[in-house]
Amino acid sequence: MKNKIFATFAVIFACSVAVKAQEPKPADTEVWTPVPIEITPGKTSFDAPSDALILFNGKNLDQWVSVKDPNAAANWTVSGNILTVNKSAGNIQTKKSFGNYQLHLEWKIPENIKEEGQAKGNSGLFLASIGPGDDGYELQILDSYKNKTYVNGQAASIYKQSAPLVNANKKPGEWQTYDVVWEAPVFSTDGTLKTPAFVTVLHNGILVQNHTELKGPTQYIGQPSYKKAHGPSPIKLQAHGDPSAPISFRNIWIREIK
Ligand code: MG
Repeated sequence: MKNKIFATFAVIFACSVAVKAQEPKPADTEVWTPVPIEITPGKTSFDAPSDALILFNGKNLDQWVSVKDPNAAANWTVSGNILTVNKSAGNIQTKKSFGNYQLHLEWKIPENIKEEGQAKGNSGLFLASIGPGDDGYELQILDSYKNKTYVNGQAASIYKQSAPLVNANKKPGEWQTYDVVWEAPVFSTDGTLKTPAFVTVLHNGILVQNHTELKGPTQYIGQPSYKKAHGPSPIKLQAHGDPSAPISFRNIWIREIK
């Protein structure tokens, strides 16, 4: 009898130990490695952090080339730490190619433009330039402060694909910011699409594109689709053919996402 009682207690004890062992602990879900690399944030969120590549530092266009002639320098105007579009020189793009990245860019529409709609301060940030030709994925730049146009063509739209969640435009003459997270499309070895591109955009610090899926490179006419595979690509700025005064840029930097 004594032995039987002891055996019963032993089983109960063993079971309770086993149950205790299975109880979740805080440490179960603690991850300690790999340790994220330490970087120094800028003084404001707009200043480039220590691991950024500066694409325009206010002084020169060393990181850029002409799209018309990739062997020629980018012939836009640099003055007073500001880059201004030279429409006759055409589009410019980065010398370097990028896959996934975070990018910061500031732009300003001139005051007193008399044109309207798509002709009012039109430019663009092509998130990947996949020439030949002028193909790519355009994040629209336009004066969309009380300037009506199709919503998937206003500032902060993915041109002809996705209107911004809100209109966060400032007045012409004021500096505006884009902060972009670009996830490049991924293609299989046979050239077919594996994963489409996604983009998240903050306009003046406000979420305007929330992990938006792109249907393909920008199409002015017709529906976009992924017709050709591509890898890392340059980033392009648009010299739009409208007659309005050219827009300006400053403080452009990028962080590649490995
Ligand atoms: Mg444009």
